[in-house]
Amino acid sequence: MAGRDVSDVDAVAHLRANLDAIRARIDAACRGAGREPAEVRLLPVSKTVDEARLRAAYAIGLRELGENKVQEAMGKWEAMADLPDLRWVLIGHLQTNKAKYAARFAGEFQALDSLRVAEALDRQLQARGRALDVLVQVNTSNEASKFGLPPDEVEAFVKQLPAFSSLRVRGLMTLALFSEDEARVRPCFVRLRELRDRLRQAAPDGIAMDELSMGMSGDFELAIAEGATTVRVGTALFGMRGTPDSDYWPGFAGGAGDPAR
Ligand SMILES: *Cc1c(COP(=O)(O)O)cnc(C)c1O
Repeated sequence: MAGRDVSDVDAVAHLRANLDAIRARIDAACRGAGREPAEVRLLPVSKTVDEARLRAAYAIGLRELGENKVQEAMGKWEAMADLPDLRWVLIGHLQTNKAKYAARFAGEFQALDSLRVAEALDRQLQARGRALDVLVQVNTSNEASKFGLPPDEVEAFVKQLPAFSSLRVRGLMTLALFSEDEARVRPCFVRLRELRDRLRQAAPDGIAMDELSMGMSGDFELAIAEGATTVRVGTALFGMRGTPDSDYWPGFAGGAGDPAR
């Protein structure tokens, strides 16, 4: 690794300022909702961000990174193998034939939405003697993403998951509708929370339904008000991405990081 020069120091200071601002926003949202800031996990989302800035993120104490694409994440994991306590969280759709990559290094997968992927992941994990924390992705908007299960299919899906013993199911994840209009965004978060609350009763033994991963740079205060336990924050921490979000969310345009917006 290259020695630290002035630009590394700048990158660290810049990230720390952004992180402080995000934590202040989380604290304020928690105060407004009568919640404790310690109940909300900040997951930094590092897709498109280069290794130097990921190392700066590590330097300011961040120990988890969320990545949308498994191959991009694996390349970064390999490049930063000298940081074994850095935990990689996959937050994007996974194709069955790429489960073998995820099983190598991921600590958590937040976008489970098919039994085929569950089966492939479980088989690959078993072979390696590994386990994986998992969230089930739910499509709460009907339009923001073609990924995620429709809410009314989640209960039957979750009931099948105990068959996959290396998947530790923790809860639910969603992408809300992308809109400036709070009245259209909030119902997505409400839908996920109500579904989680219902599944707490219905889920089989061994399936936990505590986590609600919802809210991103543009809408995480609203998500916290509705019960988010994890917020996934990219642009507010690392700045605007050079790659349009449609590269990561097929069929979609208009997220906070999308230059086309
Ligand atoms: C990129 C991404 C985020 C972060 O989005 P920002 O608007 O940059 O905070 C959150 N969740 C998923 C699934 C993503 O792909």
